[in-house]
Amino acid sequence: MDKVKYLLTPQYFLGKPMASSGYEEMLRRALKLLPKKPVKSERLTIPSADIVIVGNRTIIRNFKTIASTLNRKPEQLLRFLCKEAGSAGSLRDDIAEIHGRFSRSQVNRFIRRYVQSYVICPVCKRPDTHLEKHERILYIVCDACGARSPVITR
Ligand SMILES: [Zn+2]
Repeated sequence: MDKVKYLLTPQYFLGKPMASSGYEEMLRRALKLLPKKPVKSERLTIPSADIVIVGNRTIIRNFKTIASTLNRKPEQLLRFLCKEAGSAGSLRDDIAEIHGRFSRSQVNRFIRRYVQSYVICPVCKRPDTHLEKHERILYIVCDACGARSPVITR
């Protein structure tokens, strides 16, 4: 804190009195000392499911957006949701359709479970991961910490 304050005081920059014309240069150098922002946020913001119920079907209108936010294939996410819902479903363009009536909060809960099991690295808890299959076992491979953890489904 003291160091930063010192650097941000123009007349004492580098311990030498400075003319005010050097202020920008001083700011630029001071900013370089600040830690860089991470490229990706450590917290994942999952879009809330946009649900419409038509007859006996639940339509998730922003399904593709949700899958791409999680960096997962829509087919795989849908398979999981259908399993959670105990139902069947299909994909059409950007939307998914699940047989049966499910509320937005139910669908959001299914998606959160998917994220817990298939997206979040169990070691560092970051969401920057991808899936790899080896000898029929699915692993979450973390792009942040490099950990390889078998997917645990309940
Ligand atoms: Zn990790």
